[in-house]
Amino acid sequence: MDSIKAPRGTRDILGEESWKWARVLSVCREVAEDFGYREVILPIFEHTELFSRGIGDATDVVEKEMYTFLDRGDRSITLRPELTASMMRSYLEHDMRRGPQPVKLWSAGPMFRYERPQKGRYRQFTQVDFEVIGVMSPLADLESIDAAMEIYRRLGLTNLEVLINSVGCPACRPVYRDALRGYLAERLGDMCETCQARFSRNPLRILDCKKPDCKALTEDAPGMTGSLCAECGAHFGQVMSGLAGIGAAARVDNRLVRGLDYYTKTAFEVLAGELGSQNAVCGGGRYDNLAESIGGPHVPGVGFASGIERVVLTLEGQGVSLGDEPRTEIYVIAASGETAMEAASIAHELRVAGLSADMDFTGRGIKAQMKTASSLGVSFVCIIGDDELNAGTVSIKNMASGEQISAPRGEMTKRILAWKESGINA
Ligand code: AMP
Repeated sequence: MDSIKAPRGTRDILGEESWKWARVLSVCREVAEDFGYREVILPIFEHTELFSRGIGDATDVVEKEMYTFLDRGDRSITLRPELTASMMRSYLEHDMRRGPQPVKLWSAGPMFRYERPQKGRYRQFTQVDFEVIGVMSPLADLESIDAAMEIYRRLGLTNLEVLINSVGCPACRPVYRDALRGYLAERLGDMCETCQARFSRNPLRILDCKKPDCKALTEDAPGMTGSLCAECGAHFGQVMSGLAGIGAAARVDNRLVRGLDYYTKTAFEVLAGELGSQNAVCGGGRYDNLAESIGGPHVPGVGFASGIERVVLTLEGQGVSLGDEPRTEIYVIAASGETAMEAASIAHELRVAGLSADMDFTGRGIKAQMKTASSLGVSFVCIIGDDELNAGTVSIKNMASGEQISAPRGEMTKRILAWKESGINA
């Protein structure tokens, strides 16, 4: 029988990498706290309707990519493909409109999309998501972009490009849609089938097509920013001047339409050259009609999501160090079978004192245990043999200096702490 492997598009994040994830997530948490966001922990599955109504039936995510199933009670359930719709559901369900606005929420966790896996694109991936709900102000759009960039700045990422566009609102988008259809109509015959299918339902998405022929044909297509209504135009202008004010370079990209229907006004992405074709580390924008589309009142909002896998790939691609992988400080060696229990008690005592310690459970010889200690890169080794046990002492070896001392058992922790403090450890 073949051994069972992880499903296509999923992967195990092993120890060599998972500590980097923890660092990235802790920077996200710090930025969230510094910007006044509160964490919400949301369900991993929701009623399918939340996404079909919220994200939009005609989007790739809803049409082709959702993991949807009937549960045992015959309800249609979907593993979340993104977090914004769930955030808004939670805001509405808990009547967060009643308190002061905006409500700033953040969350992180796994998302699921049935996409064609490749480097930087998985079927299960992890997003950190920041949302500012309840205000129309362009200051919120500005702050969202700033929060995303602050995460990357603190992580040490450089050479990122912010792309920005306005996708308008229900007042001006139809005008643009018609202008775009007028431009596309005579070129449609030479475009791919997907673009042809999108022409009547969702022509803006044609601008997003990655096929070289379609891209070339839309090169000179009119841009949305030329068709914005007065309100959307003013909003976009304020976001742009705010970005200039904080010294954030952003390039207006008329093709940036994003794959989710709920976006209104500002849409943005942050790109990293190191990522190849899946080059977006972050995507976001304003979604003033999302709440209504899922059955709520009018509640504006703006936010972004960043993929942790792609952030880690970019860090590696740019050679940015996140420091060292956390390692165990002390290895406790039992020099004979009789002293194994005492070794366990030493390890316990060290951990209670706030140090990290590990030991062997399999009764191996001292040499083998010493080898393990070296491969773990510990700073100290505590050896407890029959002699030490009888004398009430422990031998402590400083792995950096090679120095070995014998300390009374009762002073062992103090000696190690002092050694550690003095900095003469690896
Ligand atoms: P989106 O929700 O599509 O706007 O995506 C926001 C961010 O999530 C992207 O910029 C990526 O960093 C990340 N992301 C989206 N889809 C995937 C995927 N299939 N695999 C890995 N990361 C993804």
